[in-house]
Amino acid sequence: MTGCIFDIKRFAVHDGPGIRTTVFLKGCPLNCVWCQNPEGIGFGRDLWVKQEKCIGCGACAAACPQGALSPEAGRISLNRDLCRFCNACVNSCPARAVQRIDRELSPEALMEELALDKLFFDISGGGVTLSGGEPLAQPDFVLALLERLKAENIHTCMETSLFAPEAVIRRLPGTLDYLICDIKLMDREEHLRYTGRPNDMILENFRYLADSLKKILVRVPLVPGITAVEKNLKAIGSFVRSCNPGIPIELLNYNWFSGSKYVLLDKPHFNDEARAFSKEEISRFYAWTGGVPLQA
Ligand code: SF4
Ligand code: SF4
Repeated sequence: MTGCIFDIKRFAVHDGPGIRTTVFLKGCPLNCVWCQNPEGIGFGRDLWVKQEKCIGCGACAAACPQGALSPEAGRISLNRDLCRFCNACVNSCPARAVQRIDRELSPEALMEELALDKLFFDISGGGVTLSGGEPLAQPDFVLALLERLKAENIHTCMETSLFAPEAVIRRLPGTLDYLICDIKLMDREEHLRYTGRPNDMILENFRYLADSLKKILVRVPLVPGITAVEKNLKAIGSFVRSCNPGIPIELLNYNWFSGSKYVLLDKPHFNDEARAFSKEEISRFYAWTGGVPLQA
C-alpha cells in the first residue's frame, strides 16, 4: 500500500499542541475556490516551475522529450497535458526551479521519517498532524499511518474537512487524539457553489465525532465575502454549540499570499483583490460565532 503526499513541514506550531511535523496528503474531493494549498487538490502526479528561482538557461525545455516546456514571455511555460512525468526537466534544472509536487511512499517509509522527530514531540508535547489536501481521501494509507504512530506512542492530529464516508469516520476514534475540523459554510447551496460539494455528510460526521472524540477544534477559514459574513459565522457558532458547547472555534485570517501558487499551477484565482482582515474585524467575527478569540 502506498499514499501520495505533497509536503512535510517540520517544527509546525499552529497545527495542534506542541511542536509538530505536518504531513500534507495530496488530493481533495472538495475544490474550494479560496484553497490555500491548490497544489494539494489534484490527486496523483504533478509538477510546477518556481519562476522566481528560474535563471532562464533553457535546460529544462531542451531535456523534455515531450516538448511540454517552453520559454514564453520571460517565463517557462508547462503544458501539463503533454507531460509524462519522466523527471528529465527536474534532474536537468540547475536552479531546482522545476519541482515534482507529488511523492508516493508506504506508511512504513513515512513512519521512518516521522519517527526521527520523536525527541521534539516528547519534549514539547507535540506529535504528527495529517493535513492536505484531504487526508481522509486516502483512508487506508492514513489509518495505517495513524495505527503506526499510536504504536510508537506519538500524538496524532488530523486537519480535515470531514468530507468522507461514515465507514471511514467511524474508524478514527482510537487512533486520532486531536481533530481539527474545517467548517466553511453552513448554507448547503453556498457550500456546493464554493467548494463543489454539499455539506450534509460533513455536518453529519461532525455530529458523530463531537460525541466520540475528546479533543476537537473547529477552524473557519475567513474568506472575504464568502465565509466571513455575519449570517454564516453565526450559523457555524450555533451549529457547533448544538453539537457540543465545549468545542472551541478558531478563525483563520485570509492568507492572500496563496494567490501566487495559482500562477505556478496555471489556475485562475477567485479574487486577486482579497486581503487579510484587521484585528478589529476579526474580533467582530469572533463575536458573531459566540466564541473566544484564539487568534488575532
Ligand atoms: S517531467 Fe518529463 S515530460 Fe514532464 S515536463 Fe519534465 S521532462 Fe517533460
Ligand atoms: S532549467 Fe530551471 S533554471 Fe533553466 S530555464 Fe528551466 S526552470 Fe529555469
